[in-house]
Amino acid sequence: MARTEFASVQKLLREGGTALLSLLFPAHCGACGCRLGDDEAAGLLCRECRSKIIPMPEHLCHVCSHPMVGLFQCPNCEDRHWHLSVITAACRHEGLVRELIHRFKYGRDQSLVRLLGRLLPAALDDSRIHGKRFHAIVPVPLHPVRERERGFNQSALLALRLGKHLNLPVLPLLKRSRITAPQARFDRHQRMENLEGAFILRGVIPAEATLLLVDDVTTTGATFDTCAAVLKKAGAREVCAVSVARG
Ligand SMILES: [Zn+2]
Ligand SMILES: [Zn+2]
Repeated sequence: MARTEFASVQKLLREGGTALLSLLFPAHCGACGCRLGDDEAAGLLCRECRSKIIPMPEHLCHVCSHPMVGLFQCPNCEDRHWHLSVITAACRHEGLVRELIHRFKYGRDQSLVRLLGRLLPAALDDSRIHGKRFHAIVPVPLHPVRERERGFNQSALLALRLGKHLNLPVLPLLKRSRITAPQARFDRHQRMENLEGAFILRGVIPAEATLLLVDDVTTTGATFDTCAAVLKKAGAREVCAVSVARG
C-alpha cells in the first residue's frame, strides 16, 4: 500500500473510531449530566451550564484581580507588598463554578478535574499574562495529612492538566511544613499571618525561572503570595499565579 493510501486509511479508522466511541459513549455535561450536543462536547458543559459561569469583570485590580467596579484603590492590595507579579482567574468563584469546586474538593469527585482543567486556560487569555514565557508550573501544595484525607491535591491535578495543555513541566517545588487552620475563617491580615512559614522549598529552582503557580480558588491571594515569596527567595525571577476561580 502506498504511503498516502496508508495515511488516509489510518485517518479513516481514527475518525470512524472517534465517531463509534461517541455513539457508544455519548458525552455528558460535567455539571448537570445531560447529554451533550456535538458542538458542546469539547467544552464538557451544556449550553445552559456554561451560561451559569460568571466571567471576570472588566475592571479589575491590575495585580490581584479584585473586582474594581466603583473603586479607585484595591482594598485587597492596601498595605501590601506582593512577591508575585499578577494573579488571574478563569471566572468568578460564584454559582455553578463554586458548587463544582466544592464537589471536586470536599465531595472528592476527582472526575471534575477534566472539566475544571478545561476552564483553567481561560485565565491565561488575560493580557497581563498572555504571551509570558513560563519555564514551569508549580502547584500550591497541600499538607500530606490533608492530601491523604482527600485522596488527592486538587492544585496538583489542575497543574498537570495545564502543563499538558501548555506543554510545560510541572514542578512540585513547594511543600507545606505544617498544617494551617482553614483560611476561610480569617480576614486578609489573619490569612497572611496564618500562612507565615507554612511553605518550604523542595528541590532546586531553575536559574532565573519565570514560574506559574496554580490553585483552584483565589480569595485574597495570601496563599499564592506566600508561595511566591519562597520561590523568589530561592532564585525565581518572576512568579505569576492562576486559578480557576476568584472570589
Ligand atoms: Zn449542564
Ligand atoms: Zn489588588
